[in-house]
Amino acid sequence: MQTVYTFGGSADHSDPRQKDKTVVGGKGANLAEMASIGLPVPPGFTLTTEECVRYLAEGGAFPDSLHTAVAAALRHIEATVGKRFGDKDNPLLVSVRSGARVSMPGMMDTVLNLGLNDETVEGLARVSGDPRFAWDSYRRFIQMYGDVVLGIDHGLFEEALEIAKEDKGLYADTEMDSEDWQALVAQYKGIVASELGRDFPQDVDEQLWGAIRAVFDSWDSDRAKVYRRLNDIPGDWGTAVNVQAMVFGNMGETSATGVAFTRDPATGERAYYGEYLINAQGEDVVAGIRTPQYLTRAARKLAGAKPLSMEEAMPDAYGELARVFDLLERHYRDMQDIEFTVERGHLWMLQTRSGKRTARAALRMAVDMVGEGLISQEEAILRVDPMALDQLLHPTLDPDAPREVLTTGLPASPGAASGKIVLDADTAELWSGRGEKVILVRVETSPEDIHGMHAATGILTARGGMTSHAAVVARGMGRPCVSGASAVSIDLKARTLRIGSLEMREGDTITLDGAKGQVMRGEVKTIEPELAGDFGTLMEWADVHRRMGVRTNAETPADCRMARSFGAEGIGLCRTEHMFFDASRISAVREMILADSEAGRRAALAKLLPEQRADFREIFEVMVGLPCTIRLLDPPLHEFLPHGDAEFEELANVTGLGVDHLKRRAGELHEFNPMLGHRGCRLGITYPEIYEMQARAIFEAACDVAEASGEAPVPEVMIPLVATRRELELLRALVDRTAQDVFSERGRTVEYLVGTMIELPRAALMAGEIAEEARFFSFGTNDLTQTTLGVSRDDSARFLGPYVDKGIFARDPFVSLDIEGVGQLVEMAAERGRATRADIKLGICGEHGGDPASIAFCEKVGLDYVSASPYRVPIARLAAAQASLKGG
Ligand code: PEP
Ligand code: MG
Repeated sequence: MQTVYTFGGSADHSDPRQKDKTVVGGKGANLAEMASIGLPVPPGFTLTTEECVRYLAEGGAFPDSLHTAVAAALRHIEATVGKRFGDKDNPLLVSVRSGARVSMPGMMDTVLNLGLNDETVEGLARVSGDPRFAWDSYRRFIQMYGDVVLGIDHGLFEEALEIAKEDKGLYADTEMDSEDWQALVAQYKGIVASELGRDFPQDVDEQLWGAIRAVFDSWDSDRAKVYRRLNDIPGDWGTAVNVQAMVFGNMGETSATGVAFTRDPATGERAYYGEYLINAQGEDVVAGIRTPQYLTRAARKLAGAKPLSMEEAMPDAYGELARVFDLLERHYRDMQDIEFTVERGHLWMLQTRSGKRTARAALRMAVDMVGEGLISQEEAILRVDPMALDQLLHPTLDPDAPREVLTTGLPASPGAASGKIVLDADTAELWSGRGEKVILVRVETSPEDIHGMHAATGILTARGGMTSHAAVVARGMGRPCVSGASAVSIDLKARTLRIGSLEMREGDTITLDGAKGQVMRGEVKTIEPELAGDFGTLMEWADVHRRMGVRTNAETPADCRMARSFGAEGIGLCRTEHMFFDASRISAVREMILADSEAGRRAALAKLLPEQRADFREIFEVMVGLPCTIRLLDPPLHEFLPHGDAEFEELANVTGLGVDHLKRRAGELHEFNPMLGHRGCRLGITYPEIYEMQARAIFEAACDVAEASGEAPVPEVMIPLVATRRELELLRALVDRTAQDVFSERGRTVEYLVGTMIELPRAALMAGEIAEEARFFSFGTNDLTQTTLGVSRDDSARFLGPYVDKGIFARDPFVSLDIEGVGQLVEMAAERGRATRADIKLGICGEHGGDPASIAFCEKVGLDYVSASPYRVPIARLAAAQASLKGG
């Protein structure tokens, strides 16, 4: 296997391994690519990543064959540029850079000007006719090599330079003359000798192998390991080393160095974007010692800057650069991030790679490039990260505004919100009714906080995970939410809040960044989301290419409307319990729960019927013609019970029952493990009249809407938490009976389906039998994850962090489906369900329905649709299109 590849000059670039990032790293592959299409690339060579892996495995040894290959590759550079490495009359200098498959901070970056020593520096001064340049290069080399290869604190060198400048009363490096640099070189060598106890290496081969060794070793540095762990980069990839002839941007006023993007990485605008510095070397641009100048005249004018742009100061080199930009974009068919140097008017390319970009820029570039004929619609769809769209769907904090972060919790629902702290839902409603912006802060939320959550601009909880009540509801409502911020403690009596050592009062202002999980003091400026035209265009293309449908999880007409505007094709989950908490109904709900007899319950349910019917009518009107999955009551009844004496007294007044009686009844409903208790279809089995009322409300509303609009909605009645066929059989019969009653009363029928959630392992195992009773399955992967893992969705935040850090789970399984484990149940249930009923409809309505990796899995197992909260609908549309283009 070839260990060293040459590029530039007359090098042969035909071996496909040389364009393969896994072999020569990203930088090496792109240098070879640029050279092979005739771009001006200084000649050089790349040691493969395979050599790095071997070197590390063999304890840091270099075989003779590698020495021979490197020597031959050096001859290639020498022959191309007409200089010799170590030659005291006309010396070749090289740069040495690392280059893994993906760009990876933490590893050794760059050594420039390698090959200089006390003799070659004189030679360089003579051939260049510029002693100042030669000595400037030498001092740069000693500092860089001393720092990154020899491990000497670079502060020592910088301090010496500062003192030298101060002594002469100079401000800029460019004011230093040849003698100044020469004197500094002597000082630098002194620093090396005293730090290392030996002289700076004068042998150029020793310099080169020292640098190669440093690059390979840096792959295993602590910093690199940390970065790899955080970014899922395998430790066995290794890094390549690129050795390349130096070109000099520090050879006077006709030389320069710069970095550029072929399009604006923030906005996506088709305008060159970048910076350059005259008479400088690469590191000066990023070091911030001198302020870089603009690339284009337009950018300079826009910024009102004086120093000339490259377009104005070096029109020829700029013209050449613009030509290269164009060529590179057409070649790579993507926006490029470039490094270049101009040496005495001649342009050289040092690097190109696909450039990082904001979501807004990604959308604009993808759409523009299709228009330019550069890429296909399919490629455009695949180019945009679905999760990045989140940035565009919520108001975001101004990235330039200062922020004082008080604590960080889970990024439960994205977006930014500022407002006054309120500690309970009623206060939230009251204050927001007065026109104030409020942030609801709770230990955790429960369904009875819904009105407060709605009234708040943001939600902060001290407890709860990514699928806790607060997180799920906030995402559904599009409210920014930080959950599980354990540093927050609340004193409801004193109406105060403590975050670490800071005490705040109800009414004080805080800001939440729901995308980062940050809680900040005071108000931080936000910027409004911009749903630009490109966004809509890309979504239309995505719709053409996706197979799965995209529905929404929504229960209010407002949410339904928003979801439709984001492209939802129906409702995948309407959680009816949220409708029970409305202030006008909660009393009737409580009366129903606390009734001693069926007759008592029926009397209370009769009060609720018209309210539910009105709810469903509104939803059907918004979703007319689209399928609507409505789930019958799911949570344990005690969630609806009164809290505190005042609420009990109020209820006693309404019902005419005694407070003691009510309290006793509430006590009877207490459960030790409500998540596994009297909830879901178990409510329907034990109190059929509840489900009967809900079914009646659904069918009456459907008949009303069919009558009024002429177009009937398609209700899909969904039974939660089913474990056995018999449960579904009984409840389906109840729904069918109710439907028949309503249809004969109304003298019309509407089409409807009865189906079930698959959210218990037993349901997945028995899916074949259950499908005999179900026209559809909707995977409730929140509960299915909870019950399969035996991990509480509401308490997991406390320990899942370390689980992810230690690699036990790649990601939070409540956020991204545990495909290996829970995924097996989903796949099996889908297969078994289909085996019984070939046309069974399959969907997912757990939070995973809005997660791109989980959506890809849904495509693979052939689900018919995914359902996501309204703000996730566009993400799901794009992710579903990508999954289908990638073939599941
Ligand atoms: C589920 O369990 O995945 C689900 C969608 O239902 P809920 O979150 O309401 O329990
Ligand atoms: Mg559930």
